[in-house]
Amino acid sequence: MTLSNPSWYSFDVVVVGAGHAGVEAALAAARLGANTALLTMSCDTVAQMSCNPAIGGVAKGQIVREIDALGGEMGRVIDATGIQFRMLNSGKGAAMHSPRAQADKKAYQFEMKWRVEQQENLALRQEMVAGLVTEDGRVTGVKVAGGAVYHAPAVILTTGTFLQAIMHTGEAKTEGGRAGEKAAHGLSAELLGLGFELERFKTGTPARLNGRTIDFAQCTVQPGDEDPQPFSYLTEKITQPQMDCHLTETTPEMHDLIRDNLSRAPMYSGQIESTGPRYCPSIEDKIVRFADKATHQIFLEPEGRNTLEYYCNGISTSLPRDVQDRMIRMIPGLQNAEIMRFGYAVEYDFAPPTQLHPTLETRMVEGLYFAGQLNGTTGYEEAAGQGLIAGVNAALKVAGQEPFILNRSQAYLGVLIDDLVTKGVDEPYRMFTSRAEYRMLLRQDNADRRLTPVGIQLGLVDSDRKASFESYEVEVQHALKLISSVRHQGRTLEEWLRRPEIGWSDVEQMSTELTEASLSERAERHATIEAKYAGYIKRQEAEIARLQKIDSVRIPGTFSFAGVPQLRHEAREKLGRLKPATVGQASRVSGITPADIAVLMMYLNAHAAGAESP
Ligand SMILES: Cc1cc2nc3c(=O)[nH]c(=O)nc-3n(C[C@H](O)[C@H](O)[C@H](O)COP(=O)(O)OP(=O)(O)OC[C@H]3O[C@@H](n4cnc5c(N)ncnc54)[C@H](O)[C@@H]3O)c2cc1C
Repeated sequence: MTLSNPSWYSFDVVVVGAGHAGVEAALAAARLGANTALLTMSCDTVAQMSCNPAIGGVAKGQIVREIDALGGEMGRVIDATGIQFRMLNSGKGAAMHSPRAQADKKAYQFEMKWRVEQQENLALRQEMVAGLVTEDGRVTGVKVAGGAVYHAPAVILTTGTFLQAIMHTGEAKTEGGRAGEKAAHGLSAELLGLGFELERFKTGTPARLNGRTIDFAQCTVQPGDEDPQPFSYLTEKITQPQMDCHLTETTPEMHDLIRDNLSRAPMYSGQIESTGPRYCPSIEDKIVRFADKATHQIFLEPEGRNTLEYYCNGISTSLPRDVQDRMIRMIPGLQNAEIMRFGYAVEYDFAPPTQLHPTLETRMVEGLYFAGQLNGTTGYEEAAGQGLIAGVNAALKVAGQEPFILNRSQAYLGVLIDDLVTKGVDEPYRMFTSRAEYRMLLRQDNADRRLTPVGIQLGLVDSDRKASFESYEVEVQHALKLISSVRHQGRTLEEWLRRPEIGWSDVEQMSTELTEASLSERAERHATIEAKYAGYIKRQEAEIARLQKIDSVRIPGTFSFAGVPQLRHEAREKLGRLKPATVGQASRVSGITPADIAVLMMYLNAHAAGAESP
């Protein structure tokens, strides 16, 4: 890809918003050689964590590993700036192991900004984007406050919670996408004018406390793992000291106070009508929905090494300030706690993601891409993953190359985007392991084996990662070959490893060849998992091969679903509106039945055999 116009306002790709989606989008596009501008409201809030100071968690940790395997930045930055690392679900099966880390919030931001600043082909600029420029159904640039226009054939919007955003704390309403920051006006009206649908979601955050005023002796210490595992495949070891989190809980007295004040909570007074994340409810929601629970856990999480600010994970709220102040003091350890920032909820516009192609390009305007919270998702990791995919596709499009689409059997990122564009969202979408059909394959330990070869092929991955991956791959292949060929008492070592009570150290004692191979701990762990779950893995691979058949049947863009009389009315209407690109995608649209798919296949086969398109 060649760099195009070097003038100040002309780029190949313009990314709007430097949140978690925006930075990954801009880095990916620039790394593929596109001359990229990252325009954001404030250069001081690059990759800011709006809510809890943590990266990863169940299913989200797997996404961070995938972003890293594709050459993204989130994993490396949290490894450099994390203050506590834990492998969640380490007592469960390998598919459930999920890395999570507390971040030093400010250090994370600075580290990400530093990497963005250092990236060749990438210009970070403080600009408020007020509108889009389009010509004949194609985007050609963006307008910024003050009247200047940036020109680009590809634009990625990653505006997060900022479009027409309103914050609520009790009866008080303020314009703004995040405490202390402005809302973005202009873009929503432009998008509506172009024919896009927009809807409203809400999310919320808890109060932050001054640690000097917390009595930690009344709380339970929660330390990090003794052997902290990095997120990035390039980080050899986490060497920085870890900090503790602390655990406390809500009290019946606090629940009574909240119940007595529900009429002042914007969610219950009717002041907020939009839907919030069901799996991340506010404390007032928890008290109503789980009325029989006497207490709820609260994690007190440090916001960094150089601050005493603490995040109260578990009690997100938009209750009025006076209620927040009283309820905090009813919690063990927080009787004298001082609030530094009050909790609040924010309502914002999002664009229902069924308006997107799987590349995250909009169906309505060519060259315009959406990523992150703007697509109705919630979470830093979900946003960053979409950003990377949109950035890659925008750069490929500008270079006239084939698009990049991950499928559901390759990555959680494939599941995420397929769910968004085929099913849409009726509440803020977050990733769960249960959303993935093939979670035995989509593990956190093998994201590099699944995705780094793709990253290498695309040119996203730098030479260090390529070299490190290739030498690891040689080692893994060697380990797999040894366990499948070396025998002990008539069985292969792989067969021995399938027994639950047998681990790597046991099979090492059965053969000198394994010890002589001096494999890394990672390669040993990987080979053990592959052996233990070989049965499941084979079954899932067979299922994928079966489904890939319908996923590979393409539906021409010009296909008229309305012209297939045997399709049910609902199927004609839904498929006509969503325009799936393959029969596999069509089969995953909610409400589409196997019978609809059989009819569709019949028509497409007839079409392929030379009959007229309906
Ligand atoms: C109060 C609150 C509570 C939240 N609670 C949770 C939670 O409990 N769990 C969870 O998983 N997630 C939560 N989130 C969501 C989480 O912050 C987002 O999922 C994540 O940050 C989305 O990343 P993003 O890149 O899409 O957007 P953001 O991180 O919001 O970044 C958007 C960026 O775009 C910039 N921008 C916007 N409009 C313009 C414009 N017109 N011109 C220039 N720049 C612009 C902004 O300045 C910002 O830098 C919460 C967010 C908020 C605000």
